[in-house]
Amino acid sequence: MKTALAALVIALLGAQSCTAAPPAVRLYVFDCGILNIADPMALFGLKQEEVGNPNLSDAAYLIVHPRGTLIWDTGFLPDSVIESGEPQTGLARASKTLKGQLAQAGYRPADITYLALSHYHGDHTGNANDFQAATWLVSKVEHDAMFAEPPPRITSPATYNALKNSKTVYVKTDGDYDVFGDGTVVIKPTPGHTPGHLALVVKLVKTGPVMLTGDMYHYPEEVARESVPPGEFDSAQSAATRKAVREFVQKTGTQLWIGHDIIGFSKLRKSPEFYE
Ligand SMILES: [Zn+2]
Repeated sequence: MKTALAALVIALLGAQSCTAAPPAVRLYVFDCGILNIADPMALFGLKQEEVGNPNLSDAAYLIVHPRGTLIWDTGFLPDSVIESGEPQTGLARASKTLKGQLAQAGYRPADITYLALSHYHGDHTGNANDFQAATWLVSKVEHDAMFAEPPPRITSPATYNALKNSKTVYVKTDGDYDVFGDGTVVIKPTPGHTPGHLALVVKLVKTGPVMLTGDMYHYPEEVARESVPPGEFDSAQSAATRKAVREFVQKTGTQLWIGHDIIGFSKLRKSPEFYE
């Protein structure tokens, strides 16, 4: 009898553990400050009056999955600059450190499983060195450009050169890279802005699918446009990437989260709140 009861309990427990839903994927949004843009026309081919606010937000994100964590982009100003309390002038200003925002969500840089940067420009790599213990997910073409002599324009190698020694996984450039193996967090090659630019699609249970678009766009006004901004690494690639993303959005209903869209970004919940 005892054995039968034990078997029944084990069967019930087993059934329960099979049907219990895994914890949902969470997406935390970090505010890494503001970039002052004097002339959106020269940089992005848009007139001041075409964009609601020419200045850009600067974003980083943390994805928490049952199998690990992924930090996506790392801001512009290194935390040490923000902590120094020196008045910030010039292109960027920020008041919150990335480490501080990460701590509010319950994580330290050393806890993070994966690091990925949408691309190598300095406004995305500011605190990359802090994540050198993570496994770096990067396309080989972007990786090799980052460590070339001389480095590409608009890069700050001092903010990322510790990654040279990080465990590195090269993501495919001809298809998606499924970070956790269950299709919920997927890196998409989106070349053009830089040679190995990446976007991230996160399938959230309540929010629905979201694409973190990196610098495929800086303003939402660009999404419907056929033309691409000046200064792209490869304009033809950018145009092809934008076309593919428009088709993907049409097919899947994925929301585009443009990290530099200061108006859209201001409406997002910031860490320690999260999306799921
Ligand atoms: Zn950028």
